[in-house]
Amino acid sequence: MAGHATTKVVGQTDAQATPRFAGLTTFARLPRLDQVPDYDVAIAGVPFDAGCTYRSGARFGPAHIRQASRLLRPYHLGLGVAPFEANQVVDAGDLSANPFNIPQALEAVSQGAAQLIADGRRLVALGGDHTITLPLLRAVAQHHGPLAVLHFDSHLDTWGTYFGAEYTHGSPFRRASEEGLIDRNHSIHVGIHGSVYAESDLSEDTDLGFSLIPSEALEEGGVGPVVQRIRDRVGDQPLYISTDIDVIDVGMAPGTGTPEAGGLLTRELLLILRGLRGLQLAGADLVEVCPAYDHAEVTGIAAAHVVYEYLALMATEPRRLSNESLAGHQVQQ
Ligand code: MN
Ligand code: MN
Repeated sequence: MAGHATTKVVGQTDAQATPRFAGLTTFARLPRLDQVPDYDVAIAGVPFDAGCTYRSGARFGPAHIRQASRLLRPYHLGLGVAPFEANQVVDAGDLSANPFNIPQALEAVSQGAAQLIADGRRLVALGGDHTITLPLLRAVAQHHGPLAVLHFDSHLDTWGTYFGAEYTHGSPFRRASEEGLIDRNHSIHVGIHGSVYAESDLSEDTDLGFSLIPSEALEEGGVGPVVQRIRDRVGDQPLYISTDIDVIDVGMAPGTGTPEAGGLLTRELLLILRGLRGLQLAGADLVEVCPAYDHAEVTGIAAAHVVYEYLALMATEPRRLSNESLAGHQVQQ
């Protein structure tokens, strides 16, 4: 396992020297990939939205989230960690994806992600529409085997095809399940709300390996029982977290492509994530931020804070994930 015992971690630009609103934009004013000798966690944008079925524009999500992340500070009070000290976190820029050819885009994202996570490094991806989670899962599962997927979304995203297209933002988890990328005994959706096509959407979803916590569960029992259900379901399997920003109520995250009423409070989502300390977080993404529909950076700020929660969770775990540290957690489909 590689490490940086002799290398000083480079954190955010000094906000006392350069105000947070000044300077070139990276996520949380962190160094770029080419400004440090090595890293533990890479943040990469995936500006791709050719898989959208409703409002397009999530291709501008990464730039918007970066801009909205400028105010993030070094110390995470909730978990008592300094995310940018515990790990060398870098902004790796954007993964290039063909905007006119979805299969080619998926291949490019998968290859780009695989390079960034070599030797146990971890990746947090900024979307882009939810199509990008499939190639990200392909890359991460290649290292760790089938993954427990924790999926925050208003939608199931296990639909079949749309206008004959297999790869859209409505189907990444069906394709991932078919490809054996997800651990069918340990995966879960959280925050589902809005309408579906038929009741069979739910039974098919169960067959694909997901259990489900609807958004109403937050109203019934609060955050604590939801956290416990997630922890019970995920166990100690290698975990991938995918958050579609539309899991948050459209009133608190209007800048998204497929809005539904009745979602989580931003605070509820952040608190749930904070409850996941100690799980084997192998990778994560935040998708579906569509800045043209945002107001006053409300959605961008929510997205930046979700990513900050990911980085805080990663700060509570070893800098590099070795296959050994996850050995024994591989589960057959
Ligand atoms: Mn959604
Ligand atoms: Mn989605």
